[in-house]
Amino acid sequence: MATGTTPGYAAGGYGGAPPGQPAAPYPQGQPPAPYPQGGQPPAPYPQGGQPAAPYPQGQPPAPYPQGGQPPAPYPQGGQPPAPYPQGGQPPAPYSQGGPPAPYPQGGQQGGPQAGFQGQYQGEVPNTDLDDDLDARPAEALAPPIDKMDRVNGYENAGFNSAYLPPPSSDHSQQPSAPERREFQNSPTITEEQAREALLGYVAEHCCYGAGAAKEMNIKDLKLSSAFHYTLETYGEARSSTWVCEPFTGQPIDGPQYGPAPGPWEVAAQPPCMFEDAEVEVEVPHTASVKPCHECMASGRSRCNRCYGRGRVRCSTCRGRGQKTSFVSGERSERYCSRCNGTGRRRCYTCGGFGQVTCNTCDGKANLKCCIKLTVTWTNHIDDHVVERTELPDELICDVSGQVTFEESQIKVWPLKHFPEAEVNQASNRLITEHSNSFKDERILMQRQRVRTVPVTEVFFKWKDLDSTFFVYGFEHIVYAPTYPQKCCCGCTIL
Ligand SMILES: [Zn+2]
Ligand SMILES: [Zn+2]
Ligand SMILES: [Zn+2]
Repeated sequence: MATGTTPGYAAGGYGGAPPGQPAAPYPQGQPPAPYPQGGQPPAPYPQGGQPAAPYPQGQPPAPYPQGGQPPAPYPQGGQPPAPYPQGGQPPAPYSQGGPPAPYPQGGQQGGPQAGFQGQYQGEVPNTDLDDDLDARPAEALAPPIDKMDRVNGYENAGFNSAYLPPPSSDHSQQPSAPERREFQNSPTITEEQAREALLGYVAEHCCYGAGAAKEMNIKDLKLSSAFHYTLETYGEARSSTWVCEPFTGQPIDGPQYGPAPGPWEVAAQPPCMFEDAEVEVEVPHTASVKPCHECMASGRSRCNRCYGRGRVRCSTCRGRGQKTSFVSGERSERYCSRCNGTGRRRCYTCGGFGQVTCNTCDGKANLKCCIKLTVTWTNHIDDHVVERTELPDELICDVSGQVTFEESQIKVWPLKHFPEAEVNQASNRLITEHSNSFKDERILMQRQRVRTVPVTEVFFKWKDLDSTFFVYGFEHIVYAPTYPQKCCCGCTIL
């Protein structure tokens, strides 16, 4: 429901007037001025228009506190250092040690605002608005990009993923041509095996008759080999983006621990070679804590239902305080009991407070911002089938055969000596295609493979019919589009 109340403000009905303001629903008939100082919004930063320096001394801490030497990434032995060397406390983002007091006059004495960190300080309309049941909280927003730190190697990082080209030297590695192994021949099948395979095939088709398979005269078996060549190129791509999340005291690995490693220097290993995968890692030494831009580090933002007024027009009487009714044709005005005749009522979304928890910082007032690196591994596969019979070529890809050639290299060389020339041509063509593709990726490994798949064409005679079927793959899969005994389409039944 859109009428959820803010935690800490919900209990006890309308008692949540802003502190320092009368608690009852506007005895003067006026909503509280949104800015207690008399019409002027308080400066977001109490020191007079300047944002508080993020570092108390006006200077960020020296990057290497131990005296000019960059510390080893994690000197304590593989563990990231505690984020706050001065004793577990984050550096105060505000020089006075805390965000600006929500109520500058100090009139606040406890009350329902436990955990309350600030007050919405933007525009509020001068009159109540119609109640909008569909009003949604504001979306969490990314900060302006110019608020983000400059980090060498990540100048293009925005809030959408930016692709990071691999170092160009990657494409120049040329290992020497590997030695080639001898190729083996395909196994053969017998007449009995062919008939057995056909009977199994017939059994899988409920309306096929088995008689033909049992009785047919197998006249000849013609053996051949199909070749399935595959080329795999396993590439790694990297992209970076700024990410911000509510700051809840999580570790901050900032620039004081050293310069950020370049995008291709961040360690990341694929879980398994030649399998697609993706990981996200925080780039070391890029994190910082920033005041939330959306709520001016107050933790609160204007309620999107009442626009900060805390009250909306009564939807029952449309703000009139009275309802019109017709009794036996006579019009009469009646007091609206929903709003006690006031024409307005408390906003259910903010409990009358006019403010809700800021969605961008989740009320924490500060954001942790850092660069996230996304590493994506993709296995690009292309293949080619050499098959010389009437059997459809694509059937070869899905059955098992014998791997008669396989090699893995960072960069493989085209096959030259495979007995089937078309395989060599396919290897040459696909390797050239792959070497001209995937320019955005660092190629980690290539693999080329030839599987030899046995194909047997079986010539048979049954009654007056001469025809053929195929048995292929180590599984003895049957392809028999002209099998003579298919009853369901009106063929001969015996
Ligand atoms: Zn009403
Ligand atoms: Zn509201
Ligand atoms: Zn915020």
